Amino acid sequence: MDQQYRDKVPAISVVVPCFNEEESLTVLVDRVSTVCHDIASGDYEIVLVNDGSRDSTWAVIAELTEKFPQVVGVNLARNYGHQIALSAGLHICQGETVMVMDADLQDPPELLSALLAKMDEGYDVVYGQRVKRAGETMFKRASAKLFYRLFDQMVDVSVPSDTGDFRIMSRRVVDHLNAMPERYRFVRGMVSWIGFRQVALPYERDARFAGESHYPLRKMISFALDAITSFSTLPLRMAAHLGLVAGLLGMLMLGWVLISYAMGDTLTGWASIASIILILGSIQLLMLGIFGEYLGRMYLESKRRPLFIVQEVRAKPTLSTDRNH
Ligand code: UDP
Ligand code: MG
Repeated sequence: MDQQYRDKVPAISVVVPCFNEEESLTVLVDRVSTVCHDIASGDYEIVLVNDGSRDSTWAVIAELTEKFPQVVGVNLARNYGHQIALSAGLHICQGETVMVMDADLQDPPELLSALLAKMDEGYDVVYGQRVKRAGETMFKRASAKLFYRLFDQMVDVSVPSDTGDFRIMSRRVVDHLNAMPERYRFVRGMVSWIGFRQVALPYERDARFAGESHYPLRKMISFALDAITSFSTLPLRMAAHLGLVAGLLGMLMLGWVLISYAMGDTLTGWASIASIILILGSIQLLMLGIFGEYLGRMYLESKRRPLFIVQEVRAKPTLSTDRNH
């Protein structure tokens, strides 16, 4: 984002994507302000990105920008999803060090000083690693675990398990991240990809402060698909592997048929043939689907649309504009 809404770069930016979070935001700003005041006195900003919420989140944010000069409200033109809302916040924030956290207070802002202390040891990225996840279902924990193991197997870039987007990053990492144009964004993977020195800080994840998770199964699956397809082409190669296995099985079977024929057996085999045809057909369709998934993503990437449209930015003292990104 080229427009400056402050004359001075703050020491710390806290970026928070918000979707239907009207109940948490006041407490969130309160807690973050307390923490930041201790660390950086007034020299920080809290960037609240409203991701097309359907409740009064934007009204709450607008009110907070009136009350707190450090709060920057960003209203996106519609709901773009968590990772894009986060990217919008990262484009707009200006701080030297950037902390990312969820609006639901599952990530305690009080960890900021511990995160900063680690950073002073010479790291560019310090990410929170959950040792305990309160208030999350067994299914959520099991699926998250499975996803990280699978991702690790398939992808060269290693994304440490049990990390979310809760982290602090140096300005140069955020600048590199902002320079990455892709539309299917799996931000924590992209941060790992960038490099520099990165380190984990273990913490206990709290339960949601209010409201419910916005990641139902459907969104979790599409999140996982985005993550894997944007970092790996292994699924495409699966076609070759499956073809090889099917071919070998076919050869074995042919051998068996020929031997039985030579020994005078006539084979009646329509049932086995039917099932083999079905299985092969389904493998082929499945692989076509995977090809289609990549092709569709290439098509959508190739349009090079902007990642998001900003409807309005609100911040004291100077700026309140309507503009497109
Ligand atoms: N979020 C968002 N847009 C969406 C869905 C979620 O900005 O379309 C935000 C949400 O407000 C929260 C964060 O992304 O700050 C993580 O969402 P949530 O807490 O629902 O996910 P979970 O913690 O259950 O994985
Ligand atoms: Mg949450």
